[in-house]
Amino acid sequence: MMYDVLIVGAGPVGTTFARYMVEKGFKVGIIEKKTRIGVPLQCAGLLGKQIKEVNILPDKLIINPFYGAYLHSPSNHVLKVAKDKPAAYVIDRVAYDQFLAERAVDAGAELFLKQNVRDLNLKNTGVLLTNGKKDYSGRIMVGADGSDSIVSRKLSMGSSDEKQLQAAQFLVDFGRDLFDMDCVHLHTYSIISPGFIWVIPLTTSTARVGLFGNFDYHTLNNMLKMFLDSDQDFEGYRVIKKYTGKIPVYNNKKKIVKDNVLLLGDAASQVKPTTGGGLIIGFKCAQIAADAAEKALEKDDMGILREYNANYGKNFKNELKTQLMVQKIFSSLSDDDLDFMFRKLKEEGAEDIISKYGEIDDQSSLVKELFKRGILFKILPKILTRGLSVLLG
Ligand SMILES: Cc1cc2nc3c(=O)[nH]c(=O)nc-3n(C[C@H](O)[C@H](O)[C@H](O)COP(=O)(O)OP(=O)(O)OC[C@H]3O[C@@H](n4cnc5c(N)ncnc54)[C@H](O)[C@@H]3O)c2cc1C
Repeated sequence: MMYDVLIVGAGPVGTTFARYMVEKGFKVGIIEKKTRIGVPLQCAGLLGKQIKEVNILPDKLIINPFYGAYLHSPSNHVLKVAKDKPAAYVIDRVAYDQFLAERAVDAGAELFLKQNVRDLNLKNTGVLLTNGKKDYSGRIMVGADGSDSIVSRKLSMGSSDEKQLQAAQFLVDFGRDLFDMDCVHLHTYSIISPGFIWVIPLTTSTARVGLFGNFDYHTLNNMLKMFLDSDQDFEGYRVIKKYTGKIPVYNNKKKIVKDNVLLLGDAASQVKPTTGGGLIIGFKCAQIAADAAEKALEKDDMGILREYNANYGKNFKNELKTQLMVQKIFSSLSDDDLDFMFRKLKEEGAEDIISKYGEIDDQSSLVKELFKRGILFKILPKILTRGLSVLLG
């Protein structure tokens, strides 16, 4: 079967891109290995408020809006940062993936489930895809097939230093009212830094509790258990479900365009270095890629696809660079450094500054503000601020 655009992977980013392309009038096919879209859950489901600008999100899929966060240091110095309007939402991610796939199909995309792509075969102007029995081809092929992307691997679009982190998450029932539903909790520890443990309340007594880091699942599960066991408030908690997943490490050397092939979303390592969140950036990139793909197909000139790479760089390079720097700084801090940093931030009145300038999806504005006010120099060892001065000065 021949398509204008053939997408490998019916995750949220692939199906969003598919919808954009059918709405532009192109014939789109999506190949997905799963039987049921979105299952199993591999996400905390926390999205910054920008989601409402970058994609459709029906209110019925929002479990709870959050106004802010409690940020905890290793010895539990706590900063509370909050806005007067919702800053983020926790969503039903499985239902959201299914909703986005349905919208793509309703718009006219053809979705093929239970099709595990095992190999790619570039022929003539098209892309041939072999999965044992059936062949699909497209004038453009898109790898939206997640962090283990076969498209990226087979076309050598990665680089040798490409990395992934593992993530583990529990759905926990605490058996009694514990949570203020306005805020999530983020717990920092040097051993998992730049990762952190998140506690995202779904109700006053249940929460998604998870973390990501450079450890195997067994170790991550043990860390979560130790975290839950160590807090008296959590006594009697019950783990209802366990989830695992992988988070690609943002790689600025990654090739995202090669001839008539594009990578999108996790397959392109389009994730925030500080939080591992990939949905909002993936959706924005889907829009940028769709604009380039439309022009390339209309003019029958695949060279135009390079505009996707250029515009991705223009939109995200600085933000991702700042986040990489923040991530590096956090990785190098000890528990004592983190405690000191939290104490100092509180003394310097940084809760108000973070509340005002902090955004889940745009962290460079906050870093710049802390830099401008001289606070970064007071909370971080000198050697670490030098790099930031170069970046922000
Ligand atoms: C534990 C955890 C928590 C997270 N929390 C958040 C969060 O709170 N907020 C946030 O923004 N992000 C979060 N993320 C990241 C987010 O889930 C990803 O960035 C997002 O899923 C990327 O979407 P995608 O469509 O690019 O890829 P995916 O969602 O991975 O979809 C890829 C699709 O491709 C299919 N596929 C793969 N290989 C093949 C093949 N060979 N043939 C056919 N189909 C194939 C897969 O089955 C899948 O359906 C989290 C990730 C993890 C692991």
